[in-house]
Amino acid sequence: MQLLMLGIVFLAASAPVPTVHSVSDISQQFTFYMDGRFHRQYLQDVGKDVRNWGSLSKLDLSNANLLILTGGDPRIPYDAGACQTIDAFLHGGGTVLMMADGARVPQPGAAVMQRYGAELPDIKPKRPFRGLDQLEGEEINFRRGRVLTLNEDWTPLIVDAKERPVLARRQVGAGHLLLGSRGLFGQKPDASDPINADWVQPLLVTAASTKAIDPKKKHRRTWVEHRREVGPLMVEYHDGTERFADAIVEVYHEVRPHLRHVTGVEPSPGMIKNMLILPTGGGGFSSGARIAIGAWWGKFPESRYPMVELISHEAGHSWVLPYAEPLWNEPIATYLGILVGRRLGMPEADETLKRQIAKARKLDPDLDAINPLEDGAPRDLIWGKTYHVFEELESQHGPGSMAKYFQAKRALLEPGRKGYSMDDCVAVWSVAAGEDLFPWFQSMAFDVRPERTDLGARVPNP
Ligand SMILES: [Zn+2]
Repeated sequence: MQLLMLGIVFLAASAPVPTVHSVSDISQQFTFYMDGRFHRQYLQDVGKDVRNWGSLSKLDLSNANLLILTGGDPRIPYDAGACQTIDAFLHGGGTVLMMADGARVPQPGAAVMQRYGAELPDIKPKRPFRGLDQLEGEEINFRRGRVLTLNEDWTPLIVDAKERPVLARRQVGAGHLLLGSRGLFGQKPDASDPINADWVQPLLVTAASTKAIDPKKKHRRTWVEHRREVGPLMVEYHDGTERFADAIVEVYHEVRPHLRHVTGVEPSPGMIKNMLILPTGGGGFSSGARIAIGAWWGKFPESRYPMVELISHEAGHSWVLPYAEPLWNEPIATYLGILVGRRLGMPEADETLKRQIAKARKLDPDLDAINPLEDGAPRDLIWGKTYHVFEELESQHGPGSMAKYFQAKRALLEPGRKGYSMDDCVAVWSVAAGEDLFPWFQSMAFDVRPERTDLGARVPNP
């Protein structure tokens, strides 16, 4: 009994109580890094983080004590409401970390900092860097970035060889404002570069401790606040992405019937219910039911083809589910985009295709030597060879070979099936083409065999 109680006491004492409730803002500019990796690198053991996807002006920060901001993208300025949210949070004792730099085209974060007496000039610092105040003696790791110009309200925390600050802190009301060059923090989407973690964590924790949070109260993410039904689709966006939403929906409607045509089927049941407009030019993602589209991908709306390809790609993922394609799950999605672009008469579609096949031929001139399934097969080989295979299948078994494939896949794969291998895939292609395609794939150096798939019996005999 006593032992048991001791155990409970011990557990209770060792369970960490978070002292930091942080909000990583991804509403001004979305990056996978800010979507949780910053927290993993610097605050994992001490804090709980949620992301803000919605307009900053509507963000509830009552149970948060740290707001993490980036310089943002000039297409989405920090609006007056966002600035009010930031200012009120600071005056209420919250800590704001702004990671931003001077640039030829100023980042919107620069305008936010101006009202607090900081300028972000487009001036590179000079090594070495030196910690001051609470960072005295710390090792400073610095990637690329710019210096800060500050008024006397600021306390520099890191300076360059010419005593110009790259990180500084000031009081605003009861709260702390930290301004630092982006080059002091990690950036990799896999969180593998926690530079300066030794001092970043204590710096943030100490500053945030000014405002108490209630760790028992749920710390929830904030989603985009606008949603609109457009046909079968729920489009999701916030104030800053609103002006892109309509044009992207228009492209989606243009693309969809062509995707339906080239695949010969509707998206899998339950897929593509939502389309989220992401504040980025960096691409998109798909979770099947929700596709997320970078608002200014490929210089949209000035250029259209990249958006056609991206939407087709992300939507294409929802067409192949619930059985993701082996090996070429990513290339097939882009290939669907190429087919759609072609049907829309866009010359960039064939240019994209030819460019990628040429890259593969540099590695494997006749595309019959390298097994794309082997470990370490180069990405360019996998992508180019995939396109080549699909083009060949169309010329030998078309027209509409891709549609026949998708239809055969839907018909053959039973619900509850586990996995979908390249052997399975070639069996399905064989059924679609009405011909045993294993020898043909083997002639192109694919290691595929009918005896390794339960669908082998369905492969047509010669
Ligand atoms: Zn993808």
